[in-house]
Amino acid sequence: MSAAAETLSVLKDIAERGKAGASGRAPEIASIFIDSEARHALSGATLVSTNPSREIPAANFSRGGREDVHAAAVSARRALGGEWGGTAPQRRGELLYALADKLEESSELLATLETLDVGKPLSQSRGDVAGAAATLRYNAGAADKMEGSSVPLGAEYLDFTEHEPLGATAHITPWNFPLGMAARSLGPALAAGCTAVLKPAEQSPLTSLAFAALASEAGFPPGVLNVVTGLGDEAGAALVGHPMIDGVTFTGSVATGRIVGASAGRNLKPVVLELGGKNPLIVFADADMDRALDAAVEGAFDNSGQVCSSVSRLLLENGVKDEFLRKLVERSRELTVGDGFEDPDLGPLVSPEQLEKVDGHIAQALESGARALLGGGRPAGVSKGYFIEPTVFDNVDVNCRLAREETFGPVVSAFGFSGEAEALAIANSLPYGLAAGIHTSDIDRALRLARRIEAGTVWINGWFIGGVQAPTGGVKDSGYGRERGIAGIRNYIRIKNIGVHIADHCAGG
Ligand code: ADP
Repeated sequence: MSAAAETLSVLKDIAERGKAGASGRAPEIASIFIDSEARHALSGATLVSTNPSREIPAANFSRGGREDVHAAAVSARRALGGEWGGTAPQRRGELLYALADKLEESSELLATLETLDVGKPLSQSRGDVAGAAATLRYNAGAADKMEGSSVPLGAEYLDFTEHEPLGATAHITPWNFPLGMAARSLGPALAAGCTAVLKPAEQSPLTSLAFAALASEAGFPPGVLNVVTGLGDEAGAALVGHPMIDGVTFTGSVATGRIVGASAGRNLKPVVLELGGKNPLIVFADADMDRALDAAVEGAFDNSGQVCSSVSRLLLENGVKDEFLRKLVERSRELTVGDGFEDPDLGPLVSPEQLEKVDGHIAQALESGARALLGGGRPAGVSKGYFIEPTVFDNVDVNCRLAREETFGPVVSAFGFSGEAEALAIANSLPYGLAAGIHTSDIDRALRLARRIEAGTVWINGWFIGGVQAPTGGVKDSGYGRERGIAGIRNYIRIKNIGVHIADHCAGG
């Protein structure tokens, strides 16, 4: 049996055992994947991943360190000069299409592993698998379409640009969409001809490992896609600072993004940083209220609010604020919260640390006079799992962490405003600038504001609009660089200019 097949077989056991809720010592898995071989950490150290719905250990996986990262970086660099370096762009696309098919064929395994690691409702995990496959196919199609240009220098010259792969790239992903984020940055990197080392979040290593094993089965040569599991400040930091790494893509918190950006900067390596948000949804009195409510519910509570682009601030025009909040509470009350394997609307938060952070934001807001219109704590009757109810706050002090910092939980705070200028001032008042939404029936106002809002993405009369085709990223503290779309592939390309001086006479003639 190949190492990839063996890895997938252990992952199947982990998935079945986890879904059945088996307790006792969790299975051990060699989760470092280098040169298409699964390895334990050279130090022998392990970490535990836990099912956050049931607080049961799911797997003991490898805690990669500096030396494992070094082995992965060497492998990625070597692979650039091997078979992969000579693989035609069209063939790279075919391999990505084959990997997308493999993801879909393994959809149940991947979805189960995702729900096991991060607790998200099973049907949402299945949706994430479909999204990852679509992402790979988008990039597969683009692999042989990233054309260079010819530069007009006149009759004596031929000057043209070629697109070279950036090289060996590092990908550091968060735990909220482990598979989706892996596909989002690896898809374009591989399409562009790069090799990669992926360091998934320590809370959610399993689907990244499965992704690499499936890539090996799909025919990607050894070393093209390596995975090192481990802690951020160990494996992650070692990877970002490794001298053989040519570029870094990071999605995560602002605080870690600063560290990652500084480290890549010391090595003079390009970095793409998609960081947090405190995203405002602005609802004017002339908006279609049903659509605005749909956007608010989906935007605030999808993935239990653990999305960089979640709605976390609801800016409501004063005339409609009370009615909007009443209806929002009515709708949100209907949402079910529970074990991801029972497929509720909301699963748990990913970890006790995340729960503690969200609880802290809530407690501080309550102390400063906030009013919970809905939720604010554990769902009734729940004794295990890191659950929190869908929560709607009013009267939140603007100086509270809940009003100013990324909460990353199913908590939304309402603020009133009167008129366009005040809405804009509140929306732009924080250092973040990831996503924003405007609900109004006045198209001029919508477009006027869309241009003035400081955010990488603005959605009008909807939320979470767009997919792999639409570039995403932040301004201000929400990061820089864009992922997805053609912009996402350009991250992994470097331009070489080649100039030729054409002699205007035959040699010797
Ligand atoms: P959170 O605080 O929600 O866990 P982070 O931004 O710290 O979010 O984590 C996102 C990813 O960054 C994870 O894969 C994590 O392991 C990694 N990470 C954390 N610290 C560092 C670091 N110093 N260098 C590189 N990666 C890191």
